[in-house]
Amino acid sequence: MKILVINTGSSSLKYQLLEMEKEKLLSKGLVERIGSEGSIVNYTIGNEKNKFQKDILNHTDAIKVVFDILTNPETGVIKDISEIQAVGHRVVHAGERYSGSVLITEDVVDALEECAFFAPLHNPANIKGIKACQLVLPDVPMVGVFDTAFHQTMPDYAYMYALPYEMYVKYKIRRYGFHGTSHRYVSQVASQLLGKKDSKIITCHLGNGASICAIRDGISIDTSMGHTPTGGLIMGTRCGDIDPALVPILENVEHLTAKQIDDVMNKKSGMLGVSGISNDFRDLEDALHNGNRRAKLALEMFDYRLKKFIGEYAIVLGGLDALVFTAGIGENDPETRYEACKGMEFMGIYLDEEKNAKTRSELAEISLPESKVKVYVIPTNEELMIARDTKEIIESMKKNSKKPDDELVMSN
Ligand code: ADP
Repeated sequence: MKILVINTGSSSLKYQLLEMEKEKLLSKGLVERIGSEGSIVNYTIGNEKNKFQKDILNHTDAIKVVFDILTNPETGVIKDISEIQAVGHRVVHAGERYSGSVLITEDVVDALEECAFFAPLHNPANIKGIKACQLVLPDVPMVGVFDTAFHQTMPDYAYMYALPYEMYVKYKIRRYGFHGTSHRYVSQVASQLLGKKDSKIITCHLGNGASICAIRDGISIDTSMGHTPTGGLIMGTRCGDIDPALVPILENVEHLTAKQIDDVMNKKSGMLGVSGISNDFRDLEDALHNGNRRAKLALEMFDYRLKKFIGEYAIVLGGLDALVFTAGIGENDPETRYEACKGMEFMGIYLDEEKNAKTRSELAEISLPESKVKVYVIPTNEELMIARDTKEIIESMKKNSKKPDDELVMSN
């Protein structure tokens, strides 16, 4: 079965085409600057990377360009788009509506449109991607896989904010958590490595956006991001948790509007805001080694916050079997992993410093053999997880010979 995975942003579209028998990646790519002149198309077929520029006016045209790439008689990987048996879409926010992936029907699109209130930047873009695919592939079943779904298992005392209860009733203001597909994928790999399902795992997804998750027996019981992805850990340009009363203070002292404060907290804060240099850990570590004081402070703040969450989640889980690092920083930055594990021997975490220093972008156990808690680097693969969910839903749809307009939900 060939499955296309689509991840759309407001002006971008990422795709991967996978052959699911061997879970082999056939082609992947990224269309950027959709809607402006000279959109950029990057794609890989096999190991060959290609790039070209073209005016792509909207997401439907972007999908058509992707299909031209995939079916090109000389360089393509399929003869005809009819070989694509299903499409899996990454969607950011499903509110409290879905706790698993779902076959996309008109009702599902309506529900996701309602959830745009929660993710005004992301959901409308994701819906554009779904509609564009439906136009070009009207008869192909599609599945939605949501960033929030994995965390729907959090207990109410973990997801509620201590605001007036009516705020929850009226507006569904609560913690949702994000990066669920990544936390789910790496925790599944970790539990296979541990050789048991009844496990206590902490997964650290440390990319430009960063979150951490406490997972008991395969189920998310707490995560660091909140109602929006701004909460929790310190991130590339996001502040993470701050004293909420700072919002009206900023409004007064800097005369900022709500939108401007949102911009400060999401785009000008975090590692960039504190260091004044960059959101990228490679730049910050270079600056640190050149004696830059603010880069040092930003990195220390990041490590300190991360460590506090690890401790908190180990307590919430009542012990720990594995600590997992993933995403850009988690997979590639031994210094962050070292700082997170330093001084944690009392919790049974013993890092193999040599192995840690050598590990980049590969699956590895980086704890010492005597470490009670296994420490793993596990490269994330959200697209594969989306494709697996899509395959499972399509197969069960066929088995039950459901029509695509019956609602079909997969539990996590
Ligand atoms: P996102 O998907 O959230 O945009 P990624 O998971 O791709 O982010 O992570 C990007 C970040 O990973 C970069 O901003 C950088 O901080 C970090 N990163 C990538 N490569 C390295 C590296 N070799 N060493 C340290 N940090 C790295």
